[in-house]
Amino acid sequence: MNISDSERIAAVFESMNIKPASAITEADFIIMNMCSVRQTAVDRVYGQNNLLRRLKRQNKGLKTILTGCILDKDRFKMAQIFDYILDKKDLENWTNILTLKKSKKTGKDYLEIEPIYESKIQAFVPISNGCDNYCTYCAVPYTRGSLTCRNHKSILKEIEKLVKNGYKEIWLLGENVNSYTSPKNKEVDFVSLIKEINKIEGDFWVRFTSPHPRYFSDELIEILAGSDTFTPYLNLPVQSGDNSILRKMNRPYTREAYKKLVLKLRKVFKNKRIGMDQILGISTDVIVGFPTETEAQFKNTAKLMKEVGFDMAFISQYSPRPQSFCFKNTKDDILKIDKRKRDKTLNEILKITALKNNQQFLNKIIPVLVSDRKGDYYFGRTRQNKPVRFRFDKEGLIGQFVNLKIKKVSAWSLEGEFVKPKLVVIAGPTASGKTDLAIQLAKNFNGEIVSADSRLIYKGMDIGTSKPSASPTLRKAGIYCVDGIKHHLIDVLEPNQKYNVALFKEQAIKAINEIIKKGKTPFLVGGTGLYIKAIVDNLDFPKIKPNKKLRQELEKKNIDELFKIYQKLDPMGAEKIDKNNKRRLTRAIEVCKTTGQPFWQERKMQEPIYEVLQLGLRPNQKELEIRITKRVNKMIKAGLEKEVKNLLKKYSFNLGPMQTIGYQEWKDYLNEKASKIQVKEKIIQNTISYAKRQMTWFKKQSQIIWVKTQVQAISKIKQFLTK
Ligand code: SF4
Repeated sequence: MNISDSERIAAVFESMNIKPASAITEADFIIMNMCSVRQTAVDRVYGQNNLLRRLKRQNKGLKTILTGCILDKDRFKMAQIFDYILDKKDLENWTNILTLKKSKKTGKDYLEIEPIYESKIQAFVPISNGCDNYCTYCAVPYTRGSLTCRNHKSILKEIEKLVKNGYKEIWLLGENVNSYTSPKNKEVDFVSLIKEINKIEGDFWVRFTSPHPRYFSDELIEILAGSDTFTPYLNLPVQSGDNSILRKMNRPYTREAYKKLVLKLRKVFKNKRIGMDQILGISTDVIVGFPTETEAQFKNTAKLMKEVGFDMAFISQYSPRPQSFCFKNTKDDILKIDKRKRDKTLNEILKITALKNNQQFLNKIIPVLVSDRKGDYYFGRTRQNKPVRFRFDKEGLIGQFVNLKIKKVSAWSLEGEFVKPKLVVIAGPTASGKTDLAIQLAKNFNGEIVSADSRLIYKGMDIGTSKPSASPTLRKAGIYCVDGIKHHLIDVLEPNQKYNVALFKEQAIKAINEIIKKGKTPFLVGGTGLYIKAIVDNLDFPKIKPNKKLRQELEKKNIDELFKIYQKLDPMGAEKIDKNNKRRLTRAIEVCKTTGQPFWQERKMQEPIYEVLQLGLRPNQKELEIRITKRVNKMIKAGLEKEVKNLLKKYSFNLGPMQTIGYQEWKDYLNEKASKIQVKEKIIQNTISYAKRQMTWFKKQSQIIWVKTQVQAISKIKQFLTK
């Protein structure tokens, strides 16, 4: 029984308008979720007898329910303690059994019931239930039955919804997750499910438990290692390091095969991932004192523990589980004292290997998901699922991914210092070669690119904006990938959809954080200076709604008239604003008139979010003019005229994006007031003027380090990322 069971039970009770009680003494229903895997868990339920009797004396209407994994031999005794023993598989029927009225539908099948999640950060998504492996010590195949899997579409839907609602960590649950096959489509196995989950966009990571070592195909290993969504953490139950005991346990692998699997997993993760993500955290489950386990056989387990070097191990002393094969057929012949001794020996080994593994994190910067705060400390987990804590005096980090520099390690946890995540900016005027450079740099530093360009965001405006050419298949799937490098904020909106610097900032931060969470380097690349500044200086933008009437009035003015109006309202701002940007001038006037404040003062710099390295490209004027001329010629040849005509089928030249360079110039041509050559010349001239204005802006940004070559850029980034 796990947390996702409790969440589904809570959902069914909520459907009956029954809410959680503030204290057990206030409750009208008490539900216990039992686990029979270990005797201690069963004993704990028996131990509640007196408490339940007392509560029933105090509240005559109290109903007590037991559910979960209950062995036949415990049922009779439990029936003396609880009013009802109910199967979670019949959850939908509980309302009838308890003669309660439902107020809303919860679903048909247990796995399909939408749970009430206990956490707002972490969610457990069951993908299967039960098991057909019949390990001889285990009662699961008898208590939970054969493996039943959940429809893959419903799993994906639940995950998508969770991600949309801001969940950051998703656990796929099942007794034997890697035997998964969708009941709706037998071709969707665990590998395909992982591939589908990989396609879900968002700022989250995924883990799963528990897989069986027998079902780790090479394909699964490759897929897992190649997926940033899946964290480098695996729970890989070994149970014993002795081949003869493994056979008696009905575990169909040898110690050699297990070791080989671990080696392969570590190797593939090392090859396919970068930075600290190359380190695969491995935990395991081990049973000591299995019937007939000799000292020599136990030593094989101890040896394997040393050789593998686990990060964590859940060690249990064997106890016969009723209904299991061993319970019926073998004698629990290992003395308790020996089991305890063996348990202690393995724990000592684990303490050494876990500490050694954790030392690799010392002084390294790693992403951490923050889940709690107690006193001065925040607590969270690393991608390898290691607990970590850090001091930070600001509120609001719970549920966030943060970067920590690890300063202290022990065998069981890490301690770090909060550090700002790093961001590399590549800025420069149009046609300066920044896109090509950024792609090469992203390849060198395992990066992804976030576009800081106010026009590349629009769909259908490809040629006139010189959009870098992306893989068509991935583009169809909504992923913009150029030369193997993923680009964000390209091809996202229709040209008539609202977009401004405040929206850009929100979306760019989301994309940058998503890249950082994957352990990759974010590159912010573009020529829209204000967009870059919005991120670098964490500018705060006034939330002022557009004034339709005022905009209609301003629409009639030409660019010089607009500038004069703005100059009067905000003389300081007028010195900094792009005088030729009609949209920006209109907005500036709108803000000044609405707030009565200068527009420029409204954009306050706040505490920066990122530690930034800004690199700039500035080819000399002549070189730039040659490049621009070549680029415009190429655009015309590639069919810019057709692109403009296609856009005009849906939009007019009055639409904001249609008023930009490469598009507005065609108006005269289409009205037969200019020739095609004149259009081309005009685009070239307008682009050159725009590039000059861009350079004027960038030259004022004192933090930019100007580079001439890729080698120089690589050296600067190396220094920045390793300091
Ligand atoms: Fe039990 Fe796990 Fe073995 Fe299945 S694979 S029988 S759940 S121990």
